Amino acid sequence: VRFHLENIRKKKHLNAFLTVYEDEALARAAEIDSKIKLGKAGKLAGLVVGLKDVLAYKDHPLQASSNVLEGFISQFNGTAVQRLLDEDAIIIGRQNCDEFAMGSSNENSAFGPVLNDADNTRVPGGSSGGSAVAVQADMCQVSLGSDTGGSVRQPAAFCGLVGLKPTYSRISRFGLIAYGSSFDCIGIFGKSVEDVALVLEVIAGPDEQDSTVSQLPVPSYSKELTQADTKKYKVAYVREIQDSEGLQPEIRENILAKLDAIKAAGHEVEVIDFPLQEYVLPTYYILATAEASSNLSRYDGVRYGHRSAQAKDLDSLYKKSRSEGFGKEVQRRILLGTFVLSASYYDAYYTKAQKVRRIIRDKTKEILKHHDFIVMPITPTTAFKLGEHTDNPLEMYLADLFSVQANVVGVPAIALPCGEDKQGLPIGLQVIADDFEESKLLHFSNSLL
Ligand code: GLN
Repeated sequence: VRFHLENIRKKKHLNAFLTVYEDEALARAAEIDSKIKLGKAGKLAGLVVGLKDVLAYKDHPLQASSNVLEGFISQFNGTAVQRLLDEDAIIIGRQNCDEFAMGSSNENSAFGPVLNDADNTRVPGGSSGGSAVAVQADMCQVSLGSDTGGSVRQPAAFCGLVGLKPTYSRISRFGLIAYGSSFDCIGIFGKSVEDVALVLEVIAGPDEQDSTVSQLPVPSYSKELTQADTKKYKVAYVREIQDSEGLQPEIRENILAKLDAIKAAGHEVEVIDFPLQEYVLPTYYILATAEASSNLSRYDGVRYGHRSAQAKDLDSLYKKSRSEGFGKEVQRRILLGTFVLSASYYDAYYTKAQKVRRIIRDKTKEILKHHDFIVMPITPTTAFKLGEHTDNPLEMYLADLFSVQANVVGVPAIALPCGEDKQGLPIGLQVIADDFEESKLLHFSNSLL
């Protein structure tokens, strides 16, 4: 704990943490130390974990990096957080992120941007930028983030980390601030597949507080990881992505080299066509904003956080509290979402996108019926400069081009470090597996590192 606290102090300029629970973490470490001596410590004894500011931790601040939740203190522990605590993990602090997890660069936070530790003039990715940098700069061992459209995998790629988005419904969303409920997943950042596997087996599984969680038993991911497996897999690689114009050439080269290594290890690699590729991002942005506009209607100035001092009646209370509390990007998403859900446009956008989502799911599942994994980049480029895309939301949304498919479909996907570009910036490799195939995914991932 002291080692990580020291790093947090030294690298304060990265702006990864919003609050550090210093005394508490030290006290808990001492307590767990005695438990270890008695042989009564939990599975995660002493693991130092950070939480993205969208996860409820009882009696601690929770704000989704937004002014609208100013002063809000969580009254309960989210399920994942509770399970970490039950197994004696140590929570070291609350991490900066894009406001309400909306963004790809961590520049939409009410607390200012987070800087990438590999190059301080560059973004760490988003929305879980603080959680990624915290692991990158050894401020904690593992972070929990949320991945609605890539927010764990994309920052993991920009910071050279392992980042897992499990199958939708594998981990309870109780105590996770909602963004797009049909996409939202808690995800895990670590420096090794092992750490991520261990945390996953602790936090996954049925929960009375969230009826959407899968009832499937949770395998012992970390144990299965150590089992020798000589199984040869069939891997698919999408031609449309390989040919994608916006893809940085070094990323293409690195991934092709990785595919050669996969082949050399005895696995089969097949290039496949996925002509739906260009529809994945628009489908995501229509549905995610629609769900966000509905989820964020609860921040009305009455129930939580910020209430405008200028309000004169109920209507102006809503308007002013929301206008003052929400940042620009969140307001944009609420407007977009409200538009696609409005009576005159509902069928043209929302219903259409739902249908396209089903087709994308069916086609992706079809590929995964014949292949164990789909391998692709996570991001079209490596970490970009701070401010590079802030004036152009569409450009920013394009950063999610390759990450949103796993969320649109619901399948698990992982980010793995895969070398560096010429400037020394990390490149990420993405591996996607079929629903609830985390065990296989983690095992294969481990063999790639
Ligand atoms: N960048 C995407 C968005 O802004 C994904 C965010 C996320 O996964 N939370 O919607």
